[in-house]
Parts: sequence; structure tokens; C-alpha cells
Amino acid sequence: MANIKPVIISTMGDMAEHGYYISIHCESCNRWRDIDPRKWLDQGLPDVEYTQAEFKCEDCGECGKKQVRSVETDLMGHITKH
Ligand SMILES: [Zn+2]
Repeated sequence: MANIKPVIISTMGDMAEHGYYISIHCESCNRWRDIDPRKWLDQGLPDVEYTQAEFKCEDCGECGKKQVRSVETDLMGHITKH
């Protein structure tokens, strides 16, 4: 039996480590913005839970909706699309 640990992503540090990032969708502007968790690490905030973080739209200031994405899935998505 392989001992596979489920990947638990709760902090910015976890995200950066496992190749995840956050996309923020602003409903008012209908815009997506990607958040790179490594930037949070650079600022000394690896322990911030992404569910607690609020991301405001740069244009209208509304709180965007968070969607967690993985870099790996993106790559696979590109392959299957073409
Ligand atoms: Zn907006």
C-alpha cells in the first residue's frame, strides 16, 4: 500500500509549495486576476490562510470570489484543449 498523503492546502505557504494559486473573480467587472502565493511568502506571510484573506478588485474595490487553481491542472487543461 502506498502511503499517499492527501494534499491539504490551507495557507499561502501550502499553495506555493504544491504549485497552487488563487484566481479572483470580480463579478462587477467580470474580470479574473491571479494571485501568486509566492508574493505573500516574499512579504513574510506564508501562514495566512487563503480562506481568511480578502482580495479586492483593483478597479472597483469589490471583494472578489476566490477560486483555487493548480499550475499542474492548467497545464493538463491546455494539452486536452488542443
Ligand atoms: Zn471589479
